[in-house]
Formats: sequence, C-alpha cells, structure tokens
Amino acid sequence: SAKRNNKRSFVFATEQLDQELYEKVQLKAELINALTKNEFHLVYQPKYSTNTLEMVGAEALIRWEHPELGFISPVKFIPIAESCGQIIDIDFWVIRSVIEQIAKWRVGGILSLPIAVNISMPTFIREGFVDEVESLLDVFQIAGHFLEFEVTERIAMSDQAKALEVLQRIKNLGISISIDDFGTGYSSLSYLHTMPFSKLKIDRSFVSGIDQSETKRGITGAITAMAKVLKITTIAEGVETKSEIDYLRSIGCDQIQGFLMCKPMSLSDYEEQVRSTLGTLSIKQLETI
Ligand code: C2E
Ligand code: MG
Ligand code: MG
Ligand code: MG
Repeated sequence: SAKRNNKRSFVFATEQLDQELYEKVQLKAELINALTKNEFHLVYQPKYSTNTLEMVGAEALIRWEHPELGFISPVKFIPIAESCGQIIDIDFWVIRSVIEQIAKWRVGGILSLPIAVNISMPTFIREGFVDEVESLLDVFQIAGHFLEFEVTERIAMSDQAKALEVLQRIKNLGISISIDDFGTGYSSLSYLHTMPFSKLKIDRSFVSGIDQSETKRGITGAITAMAKVLKITTIAEGVETKSEIDYLRSIGCDQIQGFLMCKPMSLSDYEEQVRSTLGTLSIKQLETI
C-alpha cells in the first residue's frame, strides 16, 4: 500500500542520512590521528603559460590514504576538517612539507618553480598564522617568492580590515596570493582592488564546456578583462579540452591548469617533469632567478 511505501522510503531516507552522518563522525575521528600516523601525502599539479605552454609553477594538493578506508577525497574530508578546526594542523603540515621540499630542491640544485598551497579560512584567520609561516621560511632559509597561497573569496567577506592586514603581511614576505575558485563566492568585487591579490583562478565551473556555452564564454571573458584592468594575472582551472585552451588564449587568459595538460602527480613524477622541462640548474643559476 501507499502507506507502507511511504514508510519504507522514510526508513530508507533515514538510513541513508544515518549512513552519511556515521561516515562524517567516523572521518572526523580518523582525521585526528591521520597526521601522526603519516597518512597524508602531497601530489603536484603544474600550471602552464597559455601562450607558450611552458610550466610556470604547480599547486600542491593533499591526499589521504587511510589503511582501512582507502583513498578519501579532499572534497570529502577538507570540509569536515574545516568544521572541527583540524584543518589548521593539516594546512600547517602542508606548508611545512612544501617549504621543506623547496629547501631539498635547493640543496639538490634543482630549479624550483613557485608552489601553491591552499589555505583554508580557519588557518588564515588564526592568530600568529603569518608569524609561523615567516619562522618556517627562516628555518629552511627559503625566500617567500618560491611559495604561493590560494585562498577563496570567503576571506574577503569576513573581517575585511583583518584580512587586508594578513594579506599585506603575507605579501611582504614575498609570497603571492591567488583567489581560488573565483566566481563561486558571494562577495562584492570591490575587494579586488583594495586587497593585494596577484592572481585570480577562474573556477572550473566556468571553464569546463566553455565551447558549448556562450554564457560561460561571456563570464570568463569579462573576468579576464576586469583582471587586466586591475593588473591581476588570470589562470583558468579545470582545462580539459584543446578548444578550451584556444578560447582562453583568444581572451588573453594568462595561465592554464587542468587534466588536459597534466593531472596531479606524485613528487617523483613532478620532479621528473621539472627536470625534463627545465634541466638541472646549478645553485648559482638559481640564485640569479
Ligand atoms: P582546488 O584548490 O580548487 O583544487 C582544484 C581541484 O580540481 C583539485 O581537486 C584538482 O585535482 C581538480 N582538478 C584539476 N584539474 C582538473 C580538471 O581538468 N578536471 C577536473 N574534473 N578536476 C580537476 P582535489 O585535489 O580533489 O582537491 C579538491 C579541493 O580540496 C581543492 O580545490 C581545495 O579546495 C581542497 N584542498 C586540496 N588540498 C588541500 C590542502 O592541502 N589544504 C586545503 N586547505 N585544501 C585543500
Ligand atoms: Mg587551489
Ligand atoms: Mg580552485
Ligand atoms: Mg575549484
């Protein structure tokens, strides 16, 4: 009967909810020990010049390999880590690992292109964030321009004065700042010329299928034109087809990143890529760059 069916679908719905809730609670508990158990590692996804297709840098992306649960996507666990504050330790682990890696490349005489790290909101607004980054750069004797931070529009929506101060201090360390997932936030555009952003990443949702959508072409064209006026570099994320590159080139989008050129890859694959593209430079040469 209808009644029985309703009841059954209700039971099914709550079971599904229970399942999701259970999974969240479980992941939250597992996250607490993931760092000490060494379950995280980083992969690297290169960024390229749209015109020359030269590699211009890379983004470090975290991966979680749980011994029993297997691979857990950051899309799943980062929001959980953000909601319980765990993200601060995780982000610092990433920052430290990347700085340490840059120091290793330096010792090995391998040219290091700037590496971007994603910084979540709780980390960004944490008291002493910039001080800790500065002391890490000091400890490993690394110049800030080897590092890049990716933040979302959300940071410009909260305490603007505080955000501006933190951004300015990061910039003073030589670290450049990108706005990630641009266009998906709800912030006004006024912050763009008041805050020291050097790069704007056009969100994948506007990039994928750009050739089939006049609206998307219009939006990416307008974002790129606006960024030009503000002297901000543009990068399109999630590039998956050749025709997307052609369009992005035609509107003057500076850089591209996406599966078409390269998926996020292991450290050794990334090093190989850098080596074959740029060759091994001596530390002397490195110093002059
Ligand atoms: P994001 O920073 O916007 O990173 C881009 C995401 O899109 C990455 O997913 C990347 O693998 C994926 N991607 C790149 N090119 C393509 C493409 O051509 N097609 C498609 N379909 N996807 C592409 P990933 O690694 O799963 O990361 C998802 C999100 O998790 C990131 O989005 C970022 O917000 C967050 N995240 C990842 N690593 C970290 C981290 O170390 N710290 C923090 N706070 N967040 C992180
Ligand atoms: Mg990012
Ligand atoms: Mg992004
Ligand atoms: Mg995105």
